[in-house]
Amino acid sequence: MRAAYLESTGQLVMKDVEKPRITRPDEVLIQVKQVGVCGSEVHAFQGTHPFRHAPVILGHEMAGVVTEVGAAVTDFQPGDRVVVDPQIPCGECEYCKRGDINLCPSKRVLGTQAWTGAFGEYITAPQAATFALPEQLSFSQGSLIEPLTVAVHVAHRAGIGPGTSVVTLGTGSIGGMVCATARALGAGPVIAADIRQHCLDAARERMGATHDFLLPDPNFASQVLELTGGEGADVVVIAADEPALVNLALD
Ligand SMILES: [Zn+2]
Ligand SMILES: [Zn+2]
Repeated sequence: MRAAYLESTGQLVMKDVEKPRITRPDEVLIQVKQVGVCGSEVHAFQGTHPFRHAPVILGHEMAGVVTEVGAAVTDFQPGDRVVVDPQIPCGECEYCKRGDINLCPSKRVLGTQAWTGAFGEYITAPQAATFALPEQLSFSQGSLIEPLTVAVHVAHRAGIGPGTSVVTLGTGSIGGMVCATARALGAGPVIAADIRQHCLDAARERMGATHDFLLPDPNFASQVLELTGGEGADVVVIAADEPALVNLALD
């Protein structure tokens, strides 16, 4: 199959590689229809990611169609449209036992050397990590479900609900989806701030932000105070890897 293969840091090439095969009875083979590019994959390309290392086929924000199923698969058949949870926890460590599966040190992650990623034409996945993609969602929308789950998790952890005032510092794909999730949960005001105007435009026009600020803006903190009746925001989400934002969030 064809795949975008990260040979070494900074060297991403299109090449023919061996197509993944079902090796366990509970696995499905999936033809990739759409895949997103995560910030973590940019870090892998630059050689700065803690566990995504070349040589590797990256790609974990995906949607596709099942083409083959293992003998023990009961929930899917060829032709089913699906998305995949790209992390398989071990289920046995302390973290897994208390439900913090994202912290599992021995989880298998899609788009690493341990699990061939979706920057190729096919991936395999265990049935337990595979989910049906509803008919009304496109493959593009399906490929956004994984990053959307990050925003939903953030909203739950932060207790965002009706009337919560939220500031999102950084409105790229994750920050934008935090705005959309907060708004869908009834939060307001939902204030977006970024150094890029096009991200702010998207946050305000399509992702539900009620206000937006182009940073740096010396009056940003005071304007947030004004918008929140002098209280300051209930929740500030930092969705950009800029250390100085921690101080801005506290302001
Ligand atoms: Zn990601
Ligand atoms: Zn574990």
